[in-house]
Amino acid sequence: MAGSPLVAPPTDILQSSRPTSSPFKRQTSAVPSSNGNGNGTPRLLLHANNPRSVPDSVPPMTLDPIEQLNEDEKRKYVKGKKLGEGTYANVYLGHARHDPSVLVAIKKIKVQQQYQDGMAPDAVRELKYLRELHHPNIISLLSVFSSKDQNLNLVLEYLPLGDLEMLIRDVDRVRYGAGDIKAWMGMLTRAVWFCHDNFVLHRDIKPNNLLIAADGEVKLADFGLARAFADPGRRMTANVITRWYRPPELLFGARHYSGAVDIWSVGMVFAELIIRAPYLAGNTEVEQIALICKQIGTPTEDNWPGVTQLREYTVPSEVVAVWGKEAYMGRFGAVGADGVDLLVRTIALDPKKRITAREMLEHRWWRTEPKPTPKEDLPRKSGGEQKMGADLKRRPGVVEDENASRGAKVARKLDFGQPK
Ligand code: AMP
Repeated sequence: MAGSPLVAPPTDILQSSRPTSSPFKRQTSAVPSSNGNGNGTPRLLLHANNPRSVPDSVPPMTLDPIEQLNEDEKRKYVKGKKLGEGTYANVYLGHARHDPSVLVAIKKIKVQQQYQDGMAPDAVRELKYLRELHHPNIISLLSVFSSKDQNLNLVLEYLPLGDLEMLIRDVDRVRYGAGDIKAWMGMLTRAVWFCHDNFVLHRDIKPNNLLIAADGEVKLADFGLARAFADPGRRMTANVITRWYRPPELLFGARHYSGAVDIWSVGMVFAELIIRAPYLAGNTEVEQIALICKQIGTPTEDNWPGVTQLREYTVPSEVVAVWGKEAYMGRFGAVGADGVDLLVRTIALDPKKRITAREMLEHRWWRTEPKPTPKEDLPRKSGGEQKMGADLKRRPGVVEDENASRGAKVARKLDFGQPK
């Protein structure tokens, strides 16, 4: 990366709202994903017809053109107070230089000597996938620049209303109902559908990675564990997804898996939104498996052909039959029989039988009463509390070999190729 800082403004910061067309709100990428000259270097945008993108003062022309562009990009933003700190990034509040009312979050990736090119694989993944994914329910990457010390800075849309976890936990002050859950679940499901439709697995879906914009829109964030899954033969690590949201196939050590891993997490978020507590909160992986067996049913060859072949398959000796839909009505009935039907389909033990994101969006629950609450009417976090960056430290696990080596490769090449 030496001497060639990244300059790739993925979107114009001033274009905060984008049109939507299909029922799934699919977006075509506004980000140039190739430079068109075939030499693999990131395309550099000047926004020549956009005077607002021109910095107020032009740095000396001693810089080479790429450095100049980086300098221009950097000068568009003013960094403010620190919002949070984590293992691979510090998050700062920032604003556009030309208009202090345009707020952004600047995620400054720390240089880490133990990694090739000094960039943690999490940071590389986050940058790579956020550049590719443009959707109203996925956090927007507005710009990227490197600072003097070669630190990489991701400029993200600022999402000031906290995250879903804060709302779920604030039982005393935040009240919400079935229409609100339906709205939040709709936004989450559209985000996941969009990732999967673009062959990206998020691999860390949980309430505190669902950030909330000023207008109430929920945005899926933290793509530090994401990866492409276009190649079905490729082995992937099982050590992903925060334990409470981790599906049984990963707990059993599966190295080949699909979007179904994210759907299980979506199901866990759904359950948590309803009961306002994590549904299956194991303290260890063994305990997590035991909870799944007890509350959902024991995975066996009968309900999941091939499960016993997974390399870490172990279950408690007492086999529990898979619970039927009716068993969930008592605890989860607040979302109605259709909602419970959808929930149960997201937590099918066998990943092949689990509902897909697309099928979720086609489920009848969205069309039954109550309607999803309009986003501007959704409950918001109560005043005073600020939780910024605390969760930077909470990682589901260390991503090992396949991702580490892949991450290093991506870092070296700074490969911002075609969207997947
Ligand atoms: P992340 O590493 O993306 O999970 O970010 C860690 C924490 O920083 C989040 O849980 C938020 O509290 C805060 N944060 C990250 N990105 C933003 C953003 N775009 N707007 C506001 N806060 C953010």
